[in-house]
Amino acid sequence: MFHDAADVSFMILPQANRLTPAQLAEVTAIVTEFGCNIQPIVGTVRTIYAILGDERDELMINRLEGLDYIDRIDRIQSPFKLMDRRSDLASHRIVVGGVTLGRELFVIAGQCTIDPRNPNYFYETAAAVKEAGAHALRGGVWKPRSNPYSFQGDTKSLDILMEASRRTGLPVDAEVMDEEQLKLALDAGVTVLQVGARNALNYSLLRAIGRAVAERDVAVLLKRSLHMGPISEFISAAEYIASFGNPNVILCPRGTAPTLDGYRNHPDESITPLLKEKTWAPVVVDPSHSVGKASYVPACALAAVAYGADGLCVEAHVSPSHGIGDDPKQAVTPDVLAGMIAQARQLWAMRGPSKGK
Ligand code: PEP
Ligand code: MN
Repeated sequence: MFHDAADVSFMILPQANRLTPAQLAEVTAIVTEFGCNIQPIVGTVRTIYAILGDERDELMINRLEGLDYIDRIDRIQSPFKLMDRRSDLASHRIVVGGVTLGRELFVIAGQCTIDPRNPNYFYETAAAVKEAGAHALRGGVWKPRSNPYSFQGDTKSLDILMEASRRTGLPVDAEVMDEEQLKLALDAGVTVLQVGARNALNYSLLRAIGRAVAERDVAVLLKRSLHMGPISEFISAAEYIASFGNPNVILCPRGTAPTLDGYRNHPDESITPLLKEKTWAPVVVDPSHSVGKASYVPACALAAVAYGADGLCVEAHVSPSHGIGDDPKQAVTPDVLAGMIAQARQLWAMRGPSKGK
């Protein structure tokens, strides 16, 4: 009989039909160090060994996998305590700008980058995206740029962002890249902290954000890194943040590497059903960085909704040619945004709320 209190977390499959007494003693000693127990499951030919206990530390598995008489270790328990679809948080709902994610299409829109020398463009964009149907306003204050001589953003833009929020009543989303920016953004009242694609694998930043948002009613928009492979890598990054106590993490596919010839990145809205199968976290797709060109953005946005996305994060500008950062290339105008939102809502109505599996 299995022990009542502990679940099976892993299964050990030995190379031979069963472990020798000496091997079983060695394996038992290792799992005991990590607070787990071994339960043999004896078959007529083969015996396998269940590890009982809540052990998600890779070290125990690495040590067992290093034994030359072990064939493999199969994971039974999810590596995500909080973000897993089967966790107690599965019924948790994230609310931003009056929208409960999952119940209706959620739209974040606004400029890639706020131009501190031309704040009026941002104020006009803010009013226009609200009019087009957006629920939250995005605006880049600090920018991750591949060229060190490109405009890196400006802390002054934070005031412009918050002024636009006051004028429109929309909550705002901005990327933070370090702890200083994180503090400034939270103190100013930013509601959605964006983790950019370049930082989605920066575990110390993810931990700092997790710590900082633990006691606050804010959300984190976690972009998918260009270099993330397995879906679990993306959900684990969300788990880093949630592990400090605030589970309001929104997953944002935004195109990945290698790029698809002609697009800025490899569009990855198609991973939405895979994410939904594993995690309860809402999925808000960024079609703008995915395809990288304004004329391709509406199709990518609709594809995302067809795949089951809960929302969209779109770069929009009242006058893209006067924009900075990505705006001249990939920002859509407010009328295109309004048309896209209307079509996306129709598609949503045909599709229904995303439930996952
Ligand atoms: C952005 O949102 O403007 C941005 C830089 O996004 P990403 O991190 O996805 O490249
Ligand atoms: Mn951008």
